[in-house]
Amino acid sequence: AIDFKWIRENTDAVAANIRDRNSAANLDLVLQLYDEYLALQKEVERLRAERNAVANKMKGKLEPSVRQALVEEGKNLKEGLIALEEDLVGSQRNFNFTIRDHLQLGKELDLFDFDAAAEVSGSKFYYLKNEAVLLEMALVNWAITEVSKKGFTPLITPEIVRSSVVEKCGFQPRAQNTQVYSIDNSDQCLIGTAEISVGGIHMDSILPDSDLPRKYVAYSHCFRTEAGAAGAATRGLYRVHQFSKVEMFVFCRPEESNKCHEELITIEEELYASLGLHFKTLDMATGDLGAPAYRKFDIEAWMPGLDRYGEISSASNCTDYQSRRLGIRFRPSPADPPPANAKKGKGSSGPTQFVHTLNATAVAVPRLIICILENFQQEDGTVVIPEPLRPFMGGLEVLSPKT
Ligand code: AMP
Repeated sequence: AIDFKWIRENTDAVAANIRDRNSAANLDLVLQLYDEYLALQKEVERLRAERNAVANKMKGKLEPSVRQALVEEGKNLKEGLIALEEDLVGSQRNFNFTIRDHLQLGKELDLFDFDAAAEVSGSKFYYLKNEAVLLEMALVNWAITEVSKKGFTPLITPEIVRSSVVEKCGFQPRAQNTQVYSIDNSDQCLIGTAEISVGGIHMDSILPDSDLPRKYVAYSHCFRTEAGAAGAATRGLYRVHQFSKVEMFVFCRPEESNKCHEELITIEEELYASLGLHFKTLDMATGDLGAPAYRKFDIEAWMPGLDRYGEISSASNCTDYQSRRLGIRFRPSPADPPPANAKKGKGSSGPTQFVHTLNATAVAVPRLIICILENFQQEDGTVVIPEPLRPFMGGLEVLSPKT
């Protein structure tokens, strides 16, 4: 990917290089578009901060008329944001040939085996083959590399955890139609997401104030029963029982959780933009939030084979829902006043508080494989690999059909 910031800071060198190469590149236009992009990004951040402020104001007891005015203001801000975000992420690709969906591409490129997996494991399982294996590992390696550059500690987590931890994170191993696979003759489950195994890493402990926010980027497999899921989007890789995911997780002070939420969303957007995907960020309605989340933003990317946007990631602020159950606290430095949930810590000098927890998808592998195959396919059946992934695939640039 081109580093536009570097270009902006080194315009003379870039201009000289363009001249020396007799290139037709239009530096002024690049700089102008980059400035427009930065201005849009700033405006999006401003609107998001304003919307957070409105959401915070609505937490307490309010006169109905004041609440109504805030609801109205929130709605206007949201509409403004949607329009701006559309401008920011470019447009979906126009194909001037008949497109193939990821199943067809996978067949021609020999990337998957669903039939053998159905025999060996059951429906909604798959073997990845050939370059699809490299693509999965490249996506994982790239995401871990990029996110850890931002101060997140990389983790590979256990994938079998105690049912009690699953419950404390807000999932229901014992409910009917549950998404969770329980293991017979044990008190353990398979994780549906590394949110559970990372959330549990600091169970029953008091984190040093100076360590917050503590950020992790975790790689794991995820196992889901997908009870009740049906429809066209269940074909192929879209909704499967086992998949790989790179997940971000943050433990932070309560007052910084909104800011951390924004940071997570920005990282997700940067990752998907650098892959060249066309996507939109959605502020999810209360009815779509799971029990633990106080606020959730999903990102949906354009999937040509489905002819619609499909969810590729989700970022939730769970505030103190999980930390209360998991017993994860910190002791604020003495200057901070103790808030409502303050409790005297055992054998300690000051009161402790629950941390806030947040989780967000960096890479949900199968959905990104769908996006990459379908969006970057060529008329001849080849698929162009996004530039950032190539170094992680031995420099491979194009997937070609086996004759
Ligand atoms: P969630 O933890 O449910 O928010 O899921 C995180 C991301 O994982 C979603 O945004 C999807 O991209 C992906 N995902 C969820 N369920 C599945 C599934 N059954 N098969 C493939 N990908 C999934």
